[in-house]
Amino acid sequence: PHLINQIAAGEVVERPASAIKELLENSLDAGATQIDIDIEQGGVKRIRVRDNGRGINKEELSLALSRHATSKIASLDDLESVLSFGFRGEALPSIASISRLAVSSKSQDEDQAWQLQGNGQEEFDEPTPCSHATGTTIDVRDLFFNVPARRKFLKTEKTEFRHLEDVVKKVALSRFETGFTLRHNQKTVLNLRPATTLKMAERRVAEICGPAFTEQSIRVEHEGAELTLTGWIGLPTFSRSQADLQYFYVNHRIVRDRVVTHAVRQAYQDVLYHGRHPAYVLFLEIDPTKVDVNAHPTKHEVRFRESSLVHGFLYRSLHRTLAELRP
Ligand code: ADP
Ligand code: MG
Repeated sequence: PHLINQIAAGEVVERPASAIKELLENSLDAGATQIDIDIEQGGVKRIRVRDNGRGINKEELSLALSRHATSKIASLDDLESVLSFGFRGEALPSIASISRLAVSSKSQDEDQAWQLQGNGQEEFDEPTPCSHATGTTIDVRDLFFNVPARRKFLKTEKTEFRHLEDVVKKVALSRFETGFTLRHNQKTVLNLRPATTLKMAERRVAEICGPAFTEQSIRVEHEGAELTLTGWIGLPTFSRSQADLQYFYVNHRIVRDRVVTHAVRQAYQDVLYHGRHPAYVLFLEIDPTKVDVNAHPTKHEVRFRESSLVHGFLYRSLHRTLAELRP
């Protein structure tokens, strides 16, 4: 089973950035409104994520680190409407199998906080009492210390951190109500307060995408019978290498999807006669039974059950928004 964990880890955890993605999704699943991230040496030395979510019960601590023990999917029907991020129950065991991992947590249902230490082995000792406010800290040290083949493929500290920071930014854009801090080698890189108003949300977008984007973009807000689209789309004057500024979220989950890319680009061309791919940060809310979450571990892909409905809605919403710009 230990080997299986390590193999699974290869699928889920390619580099520090993939580990942080899983940890952040878990924190959000747990209802955290504040997430503090401490990174050392690009995440290879240390990734520590502290949240104020529901926490983990003492008895569930070792389960959380065991493969498939926690899968929330009980049936195929569940699969159809998985709203939360976590459903495979293998991220933590995978990370634990390739690092020195410690979990400290206080469940909202208990008075005492508990810590569990791993050392890349399959077995865990009994939890020991520790001090922690309600919530969870996952401390991942020496990622890949026992997988030299993987370690060899890591890039420089700077590059690994850049990937990791990208992930944090993507996640921070998906949850405006949650505060995020990110420190690298003791230095604060991001400090994003919980954003509860549109103005605060715009400030967060400016911090993540740069002020030029907020200044040179237009607000999108369309509510249909079954679908809602909100966010911002960059104006033709906003010129930055655009490929890295296309964020599309379906029910708070970032996705890449051809239907989406096509609809956005088509609306942009038809209204502004502008051939390039625009920059955008867009959020689609859709009945979860109308999307298939792809089974791939990184869950970047969705499939819309009625893709022409989605395409049409996106196209019309953006067409209308952009048409307001025309003299
Ligand atoms: P999954 O998220 O797919 O269930 P993970 O391996 O990512 O699997 O996490 C295992 C389990 O550990 C989760 O289902 C959850 O019960 C618990 N867990 C992990 N991280 C946290 C956290 N930050 N707060 C509360 N519970 C957590
Ligand atoms: Mg998870």
